[in-house]
Amino acid sequence: MPALQPVRGTQDLLPEAQRRHRAVIETARQIAERYGYHEIATPIFEFTEVFARPIGETSDIVSKEMYSFADRGGEEITLRPEYTAGIVRAILSNGLTQSLPQKLFASGPMFRYERPQKGRFRQFHQIDVELIGAAQPAGDVEIIALAADILDALGVLKRTALELNTLGDLASRLAYREALIAYYTSRSDGLSEDSLKRLERNPLRILDSKDEGDKRINAEAPAFEAYLTLESRDFFAAVRSGLETLGISFRLNPRLVRGLDYYCHTAFEFVTTDLGAQGTVLGGGRYDGLMGVMGGPETPGVGWAAGIERLALLIDEPAPPPRPIVLVPLGEAGEALALTLAHSLRRSGFTIDLGYSGNLRRRLQRADKVKARVAVILGDNEIARNVAALRDLDTGEQSEVPLAALEDRLAPFR
Ligand code: ATP
Ligand code: MG
Repeated sequence: MPALQPVRGTQDLLPEAQRRHRAVIETARQIAERYGYHEIATPIFEFTEVFARPIGETSDIVSKEMYSFADRGGEEITLRPEYTAGIVRAILSNGLTQSLPQKLFASGPMFRYERPQKGRFRQFHQIDVELIGAAQPAGDVEIIALAADILDALGVLKRTALELNTLGDLASRLAYREALIAYYTSRSDGLSEDSLKRLERNPLRILDSKDEGDKRINAEAPAFEAYLTLESRDFFAAVRSGLETLGISFRLNPRLVRGLDYYCHTAFEFVTTDLGAQGTVLGGGRYDGLMGVMGGPETPGVGWAAGIERLALLIDEPAPPPRPIVLVPLGEAGEALALTLAHSLRRSGFTIDLGYSGNLRRRLQRADKVKARVAVILGDNEIARNVAALRDLDTGEQSEVPLAALEDRLAPFR
């Protein structure tokens, strides 16, 4: 085994895998632009405080998953574990709260110290959509419709189901919180250690627990429904009816609580049964409290993030790269001509592959490997007559072409 290995939970995206990632990102970006969402990129690392408080000290991310360190200047730095907090920070830093709503798309690597398994890595990639400055349920409907359109364009919508819940407004959550504390306290001897810690600070999060004992207790936990204020009910009804109008089907999942503290009202996930245990491909919701928590003016927001690795596993084979034309120089004159010919053909938009050594047989083997469409054979005796031999690698047909006419003859293979 070679001595140097990638760090556990990271992986190399070789060209074929990277092509799948690209397909996901390009498709998502194109559709996001149709909705008026423009691409932003924020730094891969931020001051730890950008993430710690907004995401919540009791969350899995902050309590055990962040890559945090002091840099050489003693600054507390964290590799971003998610996009939302960084994007909100960018809006504040750049004074964009003056021009709301902001509709933003982003993609890039995220870092979480998790137990690596299929569909779960320590460096993974997300596409992310944020609509900041829209308090209306129509905003929730828009970003869910955008998510569904992207999944549809990727050919995976049919393999997913949309799950929907509401976390209500603050008053609803406070009332529900009391009810949960009372319930979980009565069942506290069966709760996991993690959940016992959450009991006082964030009992809602226990609903999200993956512990089997917690799950059994959760099955009988009081439902949020009864504690929702009238406004919260109306808001949720408007979101549901918007989705129904657009023909986006969903199922209600009262256990769906997103793992972050600043979520309110709508919470949703697109889940699939085709990926084993890591079945959530896309998740998001409303986070009206976030901007305020981060020291900005109270500003509503709603957004989602999707895991590119998980989507890349679900999509069909993306379009292959263009098949190259391979230049096969044989001899010194051929080598010299190939150098300039490759350059000028590439500048004319052709995809040219040029090996650097080998006889005819070796070079044609390489042409086969790179799936070349045609070979342009430049032997010394051809060049002496100002021609090249053109071999169609699909049919095996070969013909001579005057060098001056070469570009025209290659046009169909551009
Ligand atoms: P989970 O419950 O699976 O840990 P999460 O709630 O932590 O998910 P989010 O923070 O909402 O996930 O991230 C959005 C999406 O990013 C997930 O639905 C998933 O597709 C993807 N994702 C999250 N963590 C990872 C990871 N460690 N590796 C690969 N993809 C991930
Ligand atoms: Mg997680």
